[in-house]
Amino acid sequence: MHKLAQLDHDYVWHPFTQMRDWLKQEPIVITSGHGVVLKDARGKEYLDANSSIWTNLHGHNHPKINAAIKKQLGKISHSSALGFANEPASLLAQRLITVANALPSANAPRGSSKSSLLNPKLSKIFYSDDGSTAMEVALKLAYEYARRSGRSKKPKFLSLEGAYHGDTVGAVSVGHIDLFHKAYSGLLFQTDKVMAPYCYRCPFNRAKPERADARDYRKCNFECTGIVEEQFAAQKKTGNPYAAMVVEPLMQGAAGMIPQPTGWLRRVAEIVRGHGAQLVADEVMTGFGRTGSLFASHQESVQPDFLAVAKGMTAGYLPMAATLTTQAVFDAFLGDYSEFKTFFHGHSFTGNQLGAAAALASLDVLESKQSLLARQRLEETLRVELQKLWSLPQVGDIRQVGLVAGIELVKDWTTREQFHLRERAGIRVCEAMAKRGVLTRPIGSVVVLMPPYCSTLSQARTMVRALGESIQETFSTQKR
Ligand SMILES: *Cc1c(COP(=O)(O)O)cnc(C)c1O
Repeated sequence: MHKLAQLDHDYVWHPFTQMRDWLKQEPIVITSGHGVVLKDARGKEYLDANSSIWTNLHGHNHPKINAAIKKQLGKISHSSALGFANEPASLLAQRLITVANALPSANAPRGSSKSSLLNPKLSKIFYSDDGSTAMEVALKLAYEYARRSGRSKKPKFLSLEGAYHGDTVGAVSVGHIDLFHKAYSGLLFQTDKVMAPYCYRCPFNRAKPERADARDYRKCNFECTGIVEEQFAAQKKTGNPYAAMVVEPLMQGAAGMIPQPTGWLRRVAEIVRGHGAQLVADEVMTGFGRTGSLFASHQESVQPDFLAVAKGMTAGYLPMAATLTTQAVFDAFLGDYSEFKTFFHGHSFTGNQLGAAAALASLDVLESKQSLLARQRLEETLRVELQKLWSLPQVGDIRQVGLVAGIELVKDWTTREQFHLRERAGIRVCEAMAKRGVLTRPIGSVVVLMPPYCSTLSQARTMVRALGESIQETFSTQKR
């Protein structure tokens, strides 16, 4: 075993990992990365097919981002946001507010009147350091805003089935993945969940399985949004209306890459606003171009009251996050010092300079014509290549939104019969992919492909080909 792998085995406890399995084999020790390629301690190269758990945007060792970090490093790495402002954090705040308010209104979904949605302006940024903390900030602010504005004495949140918003206790409270969350239920505050649109397995979808994305052939009457409306109405009757609804716009990530049909988010935002509640958008995964627009909410002409971003914010180079919100929320925390209306919350590395410098450089790259074009081409290639996987009987659903795709594996596509988690179908396929030099992680039986934006078309084809071959290999050796 490599010396570094041995040290890992001796001392490191890995996230979301059954360590007994981990300790059975030599781990891949990453020592460098360039573009889409990761290199391990033995010199073997791999394609980073999930962008290092959904964080990386423009590839590893990007010259512009490296240069921005180095330049900042020569000035200062970190000073505290408690008591001081700093150069890159100020510049980044202005930049983020500008791009977050550049809402393309032209592409409002058909049949929806613009006036029915009162989109707020986002005016202020609260920095933190990862997706979970960005969500904690949004939840605490929404909670206190609902109290101070007189909406509710005991503010309550509504979120989606299968939701994942991070692993800190507040974020877990609005999460609904039993496997991760149930054990800690005694620690959590109570929230409600409501049906998420999961067209492939939706009880209201009367369509038989087809060889296409279930969103495209579904037969339903959008019962899912009707249920959201009913839930809001029922909660109102209790005398304590919901303070806010929390959603991952366009696609739920850790739930299994579950995409929303066109018009869902728009309709839900109208329901939320119609009931005077606030909308919290968790764009930790979907933000910064991942779904085809800078922010996913904007594709449905929706502007949330809270926009949480992290992962890709620094192009995946450094841990930094932000919660954007409105002037109205900010104002609710203003007062004489002695009123103690202050938002008593903060983290040691809030507004970190190196992270902010990386984020600014990443926005430059993101907004360049070159990157925009490359992303469109990559998205198209991914779409074409993924079609080839329909020939495999274990491929049940292929759902792509921009540069994210979830491929749901099933025992038999004609029945949608699921693999039991114990069968480790997704894990086995990903292990076979790693042997082919393509790295990604499954979510249960859903294999994720999320290429960095700088992937060449040939690298994208390699990723999909490795997935196809690995599915064949994994299930051909299985006894029938
Ligand atoms: C990853 C993720 C989080 C949590 O972010 P961390 O940086 O891991 O704390 C929250 N929400 C969504 C949608 C995510 O994908």
